[in-house]
Amino acid sequence: MRVRTRFAPSPTGYLHIGGMRTALYAYLYAKQHGGDFILRLEDTDRERLVGDAAQIIYDSMKEAGLTYDEGPDIGGPCGPYIQSERRDIYLSYAEKLLETGDAYYCFCTKERLEEMHAAGATKYDKRCLRIPLDEARARAAAGEPYVIRQNVPESGEYTFRDLVFGEVTVPYADLEDNVLIKSDGLPTYNFANVIDDHLMGITHVIRGVEYLSSTPKYDLLYRALGWEPPAYMHLQPIMRDARHKLSKRYGAASYKDFINKGYLKDAVMNYIALLGWSPKDNTEKFGMDYMIENFSVDGLSKSPSIFDEAKLRWLNGEYIREMSDDEFFDAARPFLERVDYLQGLDLRYLASLLHSRCLSLADVGPSECFADMRKEDDLSVNLTEFVTAFDKLSPDMFVHAKNKTDAAVAREMLPDLIRLTEEHWDDLYPALEAYASEKGVKKGAVLWVYRIAITASPVTPGGATEMATLFGREETLRRLARSLTLLSE
Ligand code: GLU
Repeated sequence: MRVRTRFAPSPTGYLHIGGMRTALYAYLYAKQHGGDFILRLEDTDRERLVGDAAQIIYDSMKEAGLTYDEGPDIGGPCGPYIQSERRDIYLSYAEKLLETGDAYYCFCTKERLEEMHAAGATKYDKRCLRIPLDEARARAAAGEPYVIRQNVPESGEYTFRDLVFGEVTVPYADLEDNVLIKSDGLPTYNFANVIDDHLMGITHVIRGVEYLSSTPKYDLLYRALGWEPPAYMHLQPIMRDARHKLSKRYGAASYKDFINKGYLKDAVMNYIALLGWSPKDNTEKFGMDYMIENFSVDGLSKSPSIFDEAKLRWLNGEYIREMSDDEFFDAARPFLERVDYLQGLDLRYLASLLHSRCLSLADVGPSECFADMRKEDDLSVNLTEFVTAFDKLSPDMFVHAKNKTDAAVAREMLPDLIRLTEEHWDDLYPALEAYASEKGVKKGAVLWVYRIAITASPVTPGGATEMATLFGREETLRRLARSLTLLSE
């Protein structure tokens, strides 16, 4: 049997990181078994549709390396892969279920259902099950609004095996006669997932745990249609903390949000793989090939996982460190270009200074510059604040106990530093070194005064002469002169 898995998102304009993880596991399982991975769009909830949502899904999946073998935009032998284009297929199977009594027409109005619930009912009372099929067909044909419901047994229970949770038993009393076909003629998820998974030859259904307790209903539908149900893997959600799911209400939650926050796609995929799965050897940093080889169902977690952005930052930093300076520049460039105060500087050189210090690409500037960053969940640190810190220069910043420097020392040194900068721009570092020994002071003292004088920052992503190179000769001289003026006031 050829393994076939699928990812079946609803195009809501938003690919949740939990969905991306489901997609990843489905992809890994298929590829590990030499099988197929299919993308299907579940767009039957017409109210939730968003314009270019489908494109966001196609792009994000391809970018993340989850290449699907069949899907809406690439076709395949089981298409169409968009549910709204499969309407007639669902209707023909609903017809079969009506014939066998596994489904029935329901004409109950919204008002009646509301009254029923107001009176304490927790599920539909099967009232329309009593209407003979001929009569129901005639009423439907005459234009009376209706839905088609599944006829679930009233007593007994159903047991199935889930590959993650093991044996699961659900009493039929807990299950409702769900709507299969809505009044607009489109199927609900509860119906379409069964029809599509069967017709698309899906062997392993991998999805969120919220569908676990409904699975018996789906199995009943498979059996009523004479089909074998697939194997199931239900996945626990990704949580923000012990009580809340990761959701956009609380900041970043979609795949794109994390990319926009400066995380690399490989790091994001690596990190989300770890949220709900652990490899036997406890490795934490790995790529797609490792995951395909090592993914295992028994490594899947039965409890929810908590998204730890600090850990993602750490992992992202590991990936950043592995890049060459050029690769890092290419990745960081869109971020650098969004920070107004960096424009005019040599961004490639700046990137080379920031490379070893960034944990996220957004560390290259203040978070206000980056889309989808929210204060409350922003862990980035602005490594280029030094560029604009100059206005805050104050004489006490020159104080450094170990280097024995202070404002007076700086005031004395600055005219020499200006002269050396003018005369030795191309060999500034050795010139400053020579100056220190000539003066009989520590090299560190000279470099400290120089760096504070041009950045007003005790911490910078490079030393004095690297900062000077970044600003360029003219700007460096301007900054040195301004410092001298300030100290002379
Ligand atoms: N459209 C469903 C969702 O987004 C898919 C669930 C499934 O994979 O069956 O939750």
